[in-house]
Amino acid sequence: YWSPEVREIYGRSAEEPASFKAFLEQVHPDDKERIMKIIHEAHDPVTGGKPFKMEFRLLRTDGVIRWLTIRAQAFFEGEGTARRLVRTIGAVVDITQRKGVENALRESEERLALATHAGGVGIWDWNVESGELIWDDSMFRLYGMRREDFSGAYEAWRSSVHPEDIARMDAEVESCIREKRSHDSEFRIIKPDGEIRNIKVHAELIYDDRSRLQRMVGTNWDITDLKHAEDAMRESHERLERALEASNTGTWRVDLNTGMDTRDASLNRMLGLPAEPSTQALGDWFSFLHPDDLPGMQQAWERGLDSGVYDVEHRIIRRDGKVLWVHDRGIFVRDDSGQPIYAIGAAMDITERKEAEESMRLAASIYQSSTEAIMVTDENNRIIDVNPAFTEITGYEFEEIAGKDPSVLQSGRHDKAFYREMWHNILNDGHWQGEIWDRRKDGGLYAKWVNIGVIRHADGSVYRHIAQFSDITEKKRKDELIWTQANYDPLTSLPNRRLFQDRLELEIRKSHRTEAPVALLLIDLDRFKEINDTLGHAKGDVLLVEAARRISACVREADTVARLGGDEFTVILPEFGDKSHVERIAQDIIQELSKPFSLGGKEYGYISATVGITLYPDDATDFDSLMKHVDQAMYRAKGEGRSRFGYFTPSMQQEAQEKRALTDDLRRALAKGELEVFYQPILDMKNRKIVKAEALLRWKHGKRGMIGPNIFIPLAEESRLIVEIGEWVFREACASVEQWRKQFGKTIQVSINKSPVQFEFPHEKDWLDVLTSYGLPGNVITVEITEGLLLKESPKVKERLLQFRNSGVEVSIDDFGTGFSSLSYLKQFDIDYLKIDRSFVRFLCENESDKALVEAIIVMAHKLGIQTVAEGIETAAQHDLLASFGCDFAQGFLYSPAVPSHEFVQLLEKW
Ligand code: C2E
Ligand code: MG
Ligand code: MG
Repeated sequence: YWSPEVREIYGRSAEEPASFKAFLEQVHPDDKERIMKIIHEAHDPVTGGKPFKMEFRLLRTDGVIRWLTIRAQAFFEGEGTARRLVRTIGAVVDITQRKGVENALRESEERLALATHAGGVGIWDWNVESGELIWDDSMFRLYGMRREDFSGAYEAWRSSVHPEDIARMDAEVESCIREKRSHDSEFRIIKPDGEIRNIKVHAELIYDDRSRLQRMVGTNWDITDLKHAEDAMRESHERLERALEASNTGTWRVDLNTGMDTRDASLNRMLGLPAEPSTQALGDWFSFLHPDDLPGMQQAWERGLDSGVYDVEHRIIRRDGKVLWVHDRGIFVRDDSGQPIYAIGAAMDITERKEAEESMRLAASIYQSSTEAIMVTDENNRIIDVNPAFTEITGYEFEEIAGKDPSVLQSGRHDKAFYREMWHNILNDGHWQGEIWDRRKDGGLYAKWVNIGVIRHADGSVYRHIAQFSDITEKKRKDELIWTQANYDPLTSLPNRRLFQDRLELEIRKSHRTEAPVALLLIDLDRFKEINDTLGHAKGDVLLVEAARRISACVREADTVARLGGDEFTVILPEFGDKSHVERIAQDIIQELSKPFSLGGKEYGYISATVGITLYPDDATDFDSLMKHVDQAMYRAKGEGRSRFGYFTPSMQQEAQEKRALTDDLRRALAKGELEVFYQPILDMKNRKIVKAEALLRWKHGKRGMIGPNIFIPLAEESRLIVEIGEWVFREACASVEQWRKQFGKTIQVSINKSPVQFEFPHEKDWLDVLTSYGLPGNVITVEITEGLLLKESPKVKERLLQFRNSGVEVSIDDFGTGFSSLSYLKQFDIDYLKIDRSFVRFLCENESDKALVEAIIVMAHKLGIQTVAEGIETAAQHDLLASFGCDFAQGFLYSPAVPSHEFVQLLEKW
């Protein structure tokens, strides 16, 4: 029997018959076996009969599944084996609804377990009253503990906490309980394997209905990995921020829907605002923009909307008014439909770069347009760049000299020391400036004022050299002109008084060091005023110019000739050597100026000159005194008659006067027949026969009697009278030779002394003509010269000697041993005789070293094919010794002094 309620639950109509079979058919197959077993047990005749309950699913005829509970009891009749089931009565309750809630709970429990497991969350429940602590599985996993090892007390948890966190956790739990609030905290645990984890805890307090605290329930969450990730994130964020800050970059984000603009701290700092992020309407940004840049930015924005990239350089004006350049670059981010939703980007402060670019542009334009040449060389001083002005000045295009050393520009005008000094300065002080003469490509010399600087690397090594220069040739030419005008006499081009004073003072200072005296000559032209007055200034000028030329021709290169003005000239003779040199120059000047001056056309000017001489340091030691003294010397000379020179010092003056007087006498001596040639015989040492003679000049002075050649020959040399006198001696000698030839039928070779001065004058009559006029061969004459003459190596002397040689005239070296005495040197000149000087012969017998020397000279001379003549033999001992040495010829008082020609004839007769 099914009651109507049962039929309702089963989904069976009233017409259908109720049956156990029909019921069983409706039981859910999964539950059928269990149900059958329960029913079977309940119906067992032995054990059955007790009330039973079964829960199962029933498949209703309409297909709906219902959860049912049937409480029932089976009733039996009879006892023992006869016991028999009569009927079973039961009630059916539909528990479908209750079953659903149960399932949901279980499922949610399962889900929670899954979630806590997956998320590393553990759940615990601590009964505060009993002290019991319950952990779920996740807790054990979290703490790395096994349930078996867990005592289930607060202490069990506490022992896992990191010692540094224990006290704090205890206090926190206590205060939560006291203050009746939930617990949120973080702490560290140490797992049994030693690993440290970070745990986040959340717990709630649970009270009973009488508000007594019962339990504390909470979760533990392992946040170690999260923490690490957070740290990493924070670090990377900080890094980014720092990088942005370091690169002066700020970031922004513009929401294109709302028009809101977010700026980071960096960007705000750049704008001069507080350094913190901010969000504001985009309009705020515009207030910082430089008005000139707005159109460009607008375009860039529009381009960006197309291309997706916004990229522009523009200026911003900071709050404090300072203008910055920024490079702003961003991208547009779009939604799925392709609509741009926001733009994000970064603005970098490029003010410095912009300024550098600007100054570079400026430098480049200066470099290009500068009128100063600029040349850049690398660390090895190879040219790597030049500017147009460089090409303009030097003529070199860059391509022609690229990679070359700047020395290609050098003119060779400066020596190595100059460049050494220059580089020393460049490398030590970093720069050098000065004047350099260089050569243009076309070969032209030019002067430039150069500035050279060095650019170095941070480590101090050279990076570049920069040379800047300008052409100062023209300026120098002008400067020189000005200098010339200031220092030179425009008429004669001689130094003027000013430069003269400079030079004299310079020479005085030099002399102070070298101790070589300086001679100062003042030359005054006599009768110049007359010429000026009668022939006019123009002619006077011509004469002055010529006079200047003649004076200059009388002095050496190192001497200074100056015009003091009017008809006054001066000459500075530094290091003049010996006084006779000064006198000779004075004499030359006087002589040159006494020659007629051609003044154009047929006009000639005749003047004379007077010279005053003063000596530094003998007469005075300063410029003014020297000038005063030379003036006085000149006036004194004038007082004695024109065409003279005069000294400032009285004794010198007197000496000069005497010399002058004697020279004057000598000039007349030849004409007056006061000169006579004496002959001193020269013997062949082997047989003591007279084979030669030396012509020696004698002067029988009208008033002073006999004057020796040692006195008057130097005078004759200084006054050049020697040339004239020498000619005369030569002719006399030739005449004598000719006479002796006739008289004795043999040739006596005559030695004639020839002074170096005689070699200087080309207008000397050709001696060879004289010889031919007598019909004599060259070898009747020997010319005696001194070693010093050969040492001069003058081409004129060589030519003369060659002429003698060609015509058979022999050459003898006089006074050998007093000069340089180099035999090997003499060899070059084809010398025939050496005359061993009297000074060796004099002590020959007493002095061992003289003896050795003379013997050596003789031996060596013979080796060179040169014969020897011993001079000044006065004793027989000297003769014998020299003969033993093999000396070829002898001359001396032992045999005869120099005698007049007629006496010499007697000697020849006697001998
Ligand atoms: P010298 O050429 O060396 O001449 C030799 C000199 O020694 C002569 O002096 C001669 O008289 C002197 N003498 C010769 N034997 C002896 C001696 O045994 N004892 C001493 N104490 N002296 C002796 P003198 O004649 O006074 O000539 C001096 C110098 O004058 C010559 O030196 C010569 O250099 C130069 N001289 C002489 N006549 C002329 C000449 O016509 N023209 C040139 N240019 N110079 C001449
Ligand atoms: Mg001689
Ligand atoms: Mg001699």
